Order: sequence, then C-alpha cells, then structure tokens
Amino acid sequence: MTASIWAPWRLEYIKSVTADKPGCFLCEAAREPENDRCHLVVARTASALLMLNRYPYVNGHLLVAPYAHVAQLGDLPSDHRADMLELALHGQHLLENAMNPQGFNIGFNIGHCAGAGLPGHIHMHIVPRWNGDINFMTTVGQVRVIPQAIDAAYEQLLQVHVAQKK
Ligand SMILES: [Zn+2]
Repeated sequence: MTASIWAPWRLEYIKSVTADKPGCFLCEAAREPENDRCHLVVARTASALLMLNRYPYVNGHLLVAPYAHVAQLGDLPSDHRADMLELALHGQHLLENAMNPQGFNIGFNIGHCAGAGLPGHIHMHIVPRWNGDINFMTTVGQVRVIPQAIDAAYEQLLQVHVAQKK
C-alpha cells in the first residue's frame, strides 16, 4: 500500500499549493503532517490525505482531500484524482476492518446548493452505513458525535492502517 508512505520532501510542494489559504482546515491539515493526530489525519499519499470528519454525519465519517486548494475536480491533475480514489478505497477498507459497516455512501458535494460546507477545497466523503441507521439519520440530521467517540474512531482506524503497512 504505497498510499500510506509519507514523503517529507513533499512538504515544500504542499506548502506551495496551500500556504496562501489561511483558515481552510483542509489546507491546514495538508501542510502540517507533524500534527496529523490533532487534525485527525489517518493516512496520506503524495498528493492527498484521508482524515476523520470532525463534524460527522455518523462516527467514522471520513474525508479525502487533495493538498491543493482547488474547487473543482477538473482543476486537479489526473494522477491526483486517481490518488484521491485510491485513498477513498483505503478509507473504505479501514472502516470495514475497524467498524464493520454494512454499506457506504461515497461521493462529492460540489457547490453550496449541493451541500458543500467548504466549496473552495474539493473533498470526498466516505460515510459508513449500518442497517437501520436511516431512521437515526433522518430524525437527527447532522449530528455532533461526541469528541471521545471521534478519538476512539481515530485510534481504531490508525491501528488498522499501521497494521496494514507491516
Ligand atoms: Zn484549502
């Protein structure tokens, strides 16, 4: 799984594409690999990162984002798009191993009207689903999962990720 290798020499590249976007939490996570735990980043590739959503629909809700602050998929080089899909697949596998979900919603919200919370920096959602969770989702809507649950999910996913690297 080459996707999990962090290459320090990429840092200059990351800084070059993100440094001018203060206040964007994805750029912040992208340019601070030393703070992966704080940003809930589980894995990185050469051009993208996989992180837990701090404001999830359900616990285990992951995001995949390129390091580059671009609004459209078409603004990314094709190898960076491929990288995102590989990371999404990796995220799905981590969730399968750590949380045993019965299904997934994986996709993009592009533009405000489509529900994008951060329209300037494209990202992909990976939402694990379990039989019966729909009632919970529709009545409660966007829930705030307690921080302890997010930390526990982070540890679970990181353990699987690290185990797979060996
Ligand atoms: Zn950004």
